[in-house]
Amino acid sequence: MGSIATNIRNIRELIKAACLSAGRQPEEVRLIAVSKTKPASLVKEAFEAGPMEFGESYGQEFLEKYEDPLLDKMPIEWHFIGHLQSNKIRFIIDKVSLVHGIDKLSTAEELSKRALQQSLQIDYLLEVNTSGEASKYGMQPNEVLSTAETLFRLPNITLRGLMTIASPDREKAREEFHQLRLLLESLKKITPEPLKLTELSMGMSGDFEDAIHEGATMIRVGTAIFGWR
Ligand SMILES: *Cc1c(COP(=O)(O)O)cnc(C)c1O
Repeated sequence: MGSIATNIRNIRELIKAACLSAGRQPEEVRLIAVSKTKPASLVKEAFEAGPMEFGESYGQEFLEKYEDPLLDKMPIEWHFIGHLQSNKIRFIIDKVSLVHGIDKLSTAEELSKRALQQSLQIDYLLEVNTSGEASKYGMQPNEVLSTAETLFRLPNITLRGLMTIASPDREKAREEFHQLRLLLESLKKITPEPLKLTELSMGMSGDFEDAIHEGATMIRVGTAIFGWR
C-alpha cells in the first residue's frame, strides 16, 4: 500500500473510471473514509490529503476521536455506520450527518425519541440484509416494505435511503447491490417525500466499483485507504 494520500488519489481515479463506464457523474458518488480502529492522526492525514467525509462504527471510539484535539480545527463531516447502542444514541446523533445502520423498527423509534428530546432532525439509512446470511445485521427486504409506513411517520427523523454490506462473493454482491436499488425504487413509490429518499450506501474496499455500477451514491472505504485493521 502507498501513503494515505496516494491511496485516496488511486481510489478517486477508480471511482471516476467506474462512473465513466457506468454512464454516471463522479459527483454522484460520495467517498466515505472508514476510519474505525485508526487513530485521529491518520484521520487528519487523510483529511489534509483532500477533504472528505469519515465513517465510524463504534460509539465509544467515535466519541473519543471526535473530541481529539488533533481534529479540532477540521470541519469534518462524520457518518455513523455501525450499530447504535441505545445508551450511546444521544451522545452520537448531534455529531453526525447521517446514521447508516438502523436495522430495526425499535432502533428507529429510539432514534426518533432521542432526536425529538434533543430538538434535532436526523437523517438515517436502513440497513438491509440483502445476502440473507443469518450472521449479518439488517432488515429483510420484505420487512422494510411492511414497516415503511410506520417509519415514514416517526417524528424528527428522515429516511434518506438504504445501506447494505454485501456478500464476499463478487457475483452475489453485484446481485445484492442490484436488489438494494430495486428496493429503494419500491420505497420511493410509497414515501410521502420521494425527493429525500435518494441514497444507496453500498460498496466497500473490495467491491465499490461494482456498487457504483449498480447505483451507489455513497461508498464506504476503509482498508483501501488506511491499510489493514
Ligand atoms: C469496516 C466497514 C467498512 C469498510 O470496509 P473495508 O473493507 O475496510 O473498506 C464499510 N462499511 C461498514 C459498515 C464497515 O463496518
